[in-house]
Amino acid sequence: MMEQTTIRKGTSRIVRSIVVALVVTTLAGCATSQGSDPQPSADEIHRDLLVLDAHMDTAINFGRECWDFSEAHPLESEIAQVDLGRMAAGNLDGGFFVIFTSQGPLTAEGYRAALEHARQRSDTIDRELAKFPEMVGLATTAAEAEALNAQGKLIAFKSIENSYPIGDDLSLMREFYEAGVRMAGPVHGGTNQLADSSTDDVRWNGLSPLGKEWVGEMNRLGIIIDASHSSDAVLDQMLALSKAPIILSHSSPRSAYDHPRNIDDNRIRAIAAKGGAVCMSSIFLSELDLSGERGELFDRYDSIAQMSPAEQRELSRRWRALDATQPLWGSSFDQYVEALLHLIDVAGVDHVCFGTDWDGGGGIDGLMDITDLPAVTARLIDAGYSREDIAKMTSGNVLRILRAVEAMRER
Ligand SMILES: [Zn+2]
Repeated sequence: MMEQTTIRKGTSRIVRSIVVALVVTTLAGCATSQGSDPQPSADEIHRDLLVLDAHMDTAINFGRECWDFSEAHPLESEIAQVDLGRMAAGNLDGGFFVIFTSQGPLTAEGYRAALEHARQRSDTIDRELAKFPEMVGLATTAAEAEALNAQGKLIAFKSIENSYPIGDDLSLMREFYEAGVRMAGPVHGGTNQLADSSTDDVRWNGLSPLGKEWVGEMNRLGIIIDASHSSDAVLDQMLALSKAPIILSHSSPRSAYDHPRNIDDNRIRAIAAKGGAVCMSSIFLSELDLSGERGELFDRYDSIAQMSPAEQRELSRRWRALDATQPLWGSSFDQYVEALLHLIDVAGVDHVCFGTDWDGGGGIDGLMDITDLPAVTARLIDAGYSREDIAKMTSGNVLRILRAVEAMRER
């Protein structure tokens, strides 16, 4: 299966080149032609771009019985929004696969359990990637990502959402670095030992003393600091302390929807001024509706890897049925595009990236899985952005920030 897909992708590129060459030749030999080359469609431009997503919770699906990561699952009957099959079809060349740990008690036992979970999640990602070496590879540097792309392979970086599992032992960040992690955020939905969460009580007025040391350790190791989920005060302090640019892996502009998970214009400018980037998310462009059946399904989704195939199918069916009657987010694709264009206006094309929160609660009507990504590129073209501008936003900026962080480590 994986080899077939790889060959198909390589073949389609060759076929496309031949078709373009024939069309150009035909036009050149046509007396009535105006002589202009055919313009590539938005779909063609999208498929030629290197497209990375900075935040994918896809590992939640790894290990599901009878679920094959290499297949292209149809969205109508499948809860997963990302798989290698849909990626290889030209929608998404790779991104950061998240080691997510939910927040638990700040006790020795809580830390121990969280560390075990994070180590397992990291291993799970490695195991899943190792099944499909012809299709995808782990990248730990920008150069490795580009080399994988040149070989026609998909790119998998690893990142950490919530550094709670390290407890009070900063040296564990080195263990995760050595396991391939190249981006990490200190906190998730609950304030922890490192930082205040954007959606929880203020305990430290920003970073804790340990959280400030964590920033230095991230710079020293060469891991990108991710400020999504951090409170505004934490973001301000990370910007002041970090010697390297920082990123928001999955956040939306607050101008679109006033929510603490979103970022205001002044802070967008501050991140840009330090060379960082804000990765546009599809979440919190409206309120989250987890009422009734959706809340029940959301809780069950967490343990999808332990379900029987029949239970997985039933969860997927009910989840997609609810999309039609009670969407998770009330926002439209037009609102998403409007918010994205605002972010670009404020940050500039050198400081925008994409982190849709696939498989972690992201997705709105019109942008429900990665097969919809060419529509985003089409809107950027319509808005007047050049292929070069769009390429910065789909991958260039993230790789530039990774290189800056790599250079900081070497120093
Ligand atoms: Zn998140």
